[in-house]
Amino acid sequence: MPISRRSFAKNMVAAVTTVSLDPLIPHSLVAAKKIKVVCVGGHPDDPETGCGGTLARLAAEGNDVTIIYLTSGEAGIDGVSHRDAAAIRTKEAKAASEMLHAKPVFAGQIDGDTIVNNEWIRKVDELIGAEKPDIVFTHWPIDSHKDHQAASLLTIQSWMRSGKSFDLYFFEVCSGSQTTGFRPDTYVDISATQAQKRKSVYCHTSQQPDEIYKSSGCNHEMMEKFRGIEINATAAEAFVRMEGASLLKSINK
Ligand SMILES: [Zn+2]
Repeated sequence: MPISRRSFAKNMVAAVTTVSLDPLIPHSLVAAKKIKVVCVGGHPDDPETGCGGTLARLAAEGNDVTIIYLTSGEAGIDGVSHRDAAAIRTKEAKAASEMLHAKPVFAGQIDGDTIVNNEWIRKVDELIGAEKPDIVFTHWPIDSHKDHQAASLLTIQSWMRSGKSFDLYFFEVCSGSQTTGFRPDTYVDISATQAQKRKSVYCHTSQQPDEIYKSSGCNHEMMEKFRGIEINATAAEAFVRMEGASLLKSINK
């Protein structure tokens, strides 16, 4: 039987206990009645591949989900100007967000030339703070792509500046080639939203979606299956939780 949602008094995160649940049984991902969720990714397609199934589940459970794209993927289409590529990829990101029932926000940094300085720490902190999030997802900081590192560091700074007021979870992308040294402690069964996630990834037609979903160098389809095996589910996404995070229910290894 599904676990019924408990009434949740705001700011009572400490009272929420982590419960191990059978991943095959549908259940609410969070104990709070309704929460605010933010995902910060370096480029269009990162939030979708890293935690699209989880975001779709959280949205389906009635939570508000916002995706902040640090850049618009300006450098991501060979032979196309930054301006035109940004326009194409912004449109794709909007369609992908819509598929996940998330609100897209574009921070305005440039793909391949991301900046971590005081100005951008403040700007990203303002964007995240404006959402008043309960949970934030972002890149694992030890990632081969420096734009992913930038997105992660800026988000970590926001978490610290907020007084650690939200739960922070790191996701993985293209594990083995991009995300490395990732030892997840939190798993989300995405069997029910895997198809929806896949559709959102395939909104990024300019990126040859097969290349980011099931190629030898970047195989999210296999990652979902592998993470699923770890919790005896058809498909899963895995996360590393930052100290203190407890809102997201999972099988904690
Ligand atoms: Zn990326």
